[in-house]
Amino acid sequence: MARPDAIVIGSGPNGLAAAIVLARAGRKVVVYEAEASIGGGVRSAPLTLPGFTHDICSAVHPFAVASPVFRSLPLGQFGLEWIEPPSMLAHPFDDGTAAVVERQVRQTGEELGTDAAAYRALFGMIVDDWDRLEWTILGPLRWPRHPFAAARFGFEALQSCASLARRWFAGRDARALVAGMAGHGLLPLEQRPSAGFALVLGALAHVVGWVIPRGGAQALTDALAGCLRSLGGEIVVDARVQRIDDLPAARAILCDLSPRPLLRIAGHRFPERYRRQLERYRYGMGVFKMDWALDAPIPWRAAACARAATVHVGGTLEAIAASERDAWNGRIAKRPFVILAQPSLFDRSRAPDGKQTVWAYCHVPHASTVDMTDRIEQQIERYAPGFRDRILARSVMAPAAIEARNANLVGGDIGAGVSDLGQLFARPTWRWYSTPVRGLYICSASTPPGVGVHGMCGYWAARRALRDTG
Ligand SMILES: Cc1cc2nc3c(=O)[nH]c(=O)nc-3n(C[C@H](O)[C@H](O)[C@H](O)COP(=O)(O)OP(=O)(O)OC[C@H]3O[C@@H](n4cnc5c(N)ncnc54)[C@H](O)[C@@H]3O)c2cc1C
Repeated sequence: MARPDAIVIGSGPNGLAAAIVLARAGRKVVVYEAEASIGGGVRSAPLTLPGFTHDICSAVHPFAVASPVFRSLPLGQFGLEWIEPPSMLAHPFDDGTAAVVERQVRQTGEELGTDAAAYRALFGMIVDDWDRLEWTILGPLRWPRHPFAAARFGFEALQSCASLARRWFAGRDARALVAGMAGHGLLPLEQRPSAGFALVLGALAHVVGWVIPRGGAQALTDALAGCLRSLGGEIVVDARVQRIDDLPAARAILCDLSPRPLLRIAGHRFPERYRRQLERYRYGMGVFKMDWALDAPIPWRAAACARAATVHVGGTLEAIAASERDAWNGRIAKRPFVILAQPSLFDRSRAPDGKQTVWAYCHVPHASTVDMTDRIEQQIERYAPGFRDRILARSVMAPAAIEARNANLVGGDIGAGVSDLGQLFARPTWRWYSTPVRGLYICSASTPPGVGVHGMCGYWAARRALRDTG
C-alpha cells in the first residue's frame, strides 16, 4: 500500500471496526496483527480433533447483532449468517429443573411463577427503551440523548446484582437467572454495577437474541475483514508492532490494545503523568477456559438445557455469588460458576456427524495457575450425569495461555480491565480514545463501552481520529 493515512494495531473486532469506519470515510488504512490469524478475541480453530471447530474466545454474540456499527455493514454479503437457538439461555438446578430465558419477555416471565410480573416489568422496561438507550449503553459517558430512559435504566443498572435480584425477585429461578447474567461482568455480585451486566445481557436476549455465527466466531471476523478489504483496507498478519516508532508515518495510529501492551510499544512517548495513569489501570479476575469434542450431546437432566446454546452452570444466586467472590478475592472456588456454550447443537458445520463441540469457562483469580479441569467437569457432571463419558478430547487454557494468545488479556482478564465504578467511566483514563501523543488513539475494549464483541470502542475511536484529522 502507498503511504497509509491511518494504521490500526490489532485486528480484534474493535480494531477491524475502527479500520472500516476510517476506510469508509475514504482513508487508506492498514491493520497490523501480531498473530498468524486475524480476529483477536473472535477466532475459531480445531482446538481438539480434526473436523471440530471451536471458538477460541467469544462464542455467543448478542452484542454484535445489537451493535450500531456492525448493523450498518453488509456483513451478510461477506458470508456472515446468524443462528438463533430456540431458547436464549438455560440455567439448571440440582432438582433436575431449569430456568430458561426465551426470546420473548412475556414467555420468559410466564415460566418464573410468582416472579412473572416483576420479570416483565424490569426487563420489559429496558427492552421497550432499548432504541433510546443503545447509544448511551454502547458509548462513552455523555449527556444521554434520552435522559428519562437513561435515568430509569441507570437507577437499576448501577446497583449490585445481589441487591437488584433481592429487591425485584422472590423466587430461586429469577434470582439465579439474573446472577448468571451478571456473572459475565467479571465483578463480585455484591459490587456495583454488576446489575448492569445482567440487565443489558438479559435485555439483549429479548431485543436481538443470544445468537451464534454459522461456522464459528471466525465467520464474523472474516466478514469484517472482507468488508474492510472491499473498502481498500489492508491487513498484515504475523506483524507484531514492537515500538510505534517502527511504523510508517501516518496521520492517525489506532491501538486495539489494553494499557499494558500499549505502554510496551508507546510508553516512552507518553508524559510521565499519563504513563502513571495507564500503569495504575487495574486488570481483574482471570478465566480458565475449556473446549471439548464430544461423541454425543451433553446428557442434561433438565431437557430444556438442550434448547439453548448458552447454559449457566452454577445453581442458585448464593452459589454463583460465592464463586465470583472467591475468584475476585484470590481464592479457588470449589464449585465454580461455569458459563457454557454448545454451538454444534444448532450448527452442524462445527463437528463431524453426530459429534459435538462444547465451550466453557469459569473465573479464577488474576493470573491463577491452578488447573480447574476437574472442578469444571464436576460442575457439568452435576447437572448432566454421564457428561465425562462422552468426552473424546479436551483443550485447556489457563490465564497464562489466554494472555499468551492475546497480549491485551493481562492475567487472563478477558474484560481487558476491571469494570467497577472506579474504572467504568474513565476507561482507561478520562481521555478515553485519545492520548497525549498527537494522532495516537486507543480503540480496544479497555475504552468505553468495554468488553464484548460490538466494535463500538473502535467506532468511537475512529470517529475521534476522523474529527481530529479533519
Ligand atoms: C475466553 C473468552 C471468551 C469470550 N466470550 C465472549 C462472548 O461469548 N461474547 C462476547 O461478546 N465477548 C466475549 N469475549 C470478549 C471479547 O472477545 C472481547 O471483548 C473482544 O474481542 C475485544 O475486542 P478488541 O478488538 O478490543 O480486542 P482483541 O479482540 O483482544 O484484539 C486485540 C488484537 O490485537 C492484537 N495485538 C496485541 N498486541 C499487538 C501488537 N503489539 N501488534 C499487533 N497486534 C497486536 C492481538 O493479537 C489481537 O488480535 C470473550 C473473550 C475471551 C478471551
